[in-house]
Amino acid sequence: MTRIRANCPGCGEVDLTPPEVTLRIVRAPDGLVGEGSTYRFLCPDCDELVTKPADERIAQLLSNGDVPIEEFGDIDQLLELLLPPHPEAPADAPRLTADDLLDLHELLAGDDWFERLLAS
Ligand SMILES: [Zn+2]
Repeated sequence: MTRIRANCPGCGEVDLTPPEVTLRIVRAPDGLVGEGSTYRFLCPDCDELVTKPADERIAQLLSNGDVPIEEFGDIDQLLELLLPPHPEAPADAPRLTADDLLDLHELLAGDDWFERLLAS
């Protein structure tokens, strides 16, 4: 089986097998390996998850070595997977309008906004 030599920040060079590495490719608009592409592995010596940026050359080398690939159409798809949903943007809440903002501004300009907040 192919062996992959990678670098752990704590342990230096480590040898891995292809299934131990995951290549995450974010496609650039031109179809090449884009910004945000990474490869990662669990270091066999210290158990740290190591994530490193992957450029076109690294992605080519790893995919030729039969490393499993997760592919994303663009960076937003990847972020959707990595980030929790935004807590301040519930899908079914009404949008903040310019009028709401003006009301808030006028409320905060008064002296009693904190008391009113506590009372609400
Ligand atoms: Zn390590």
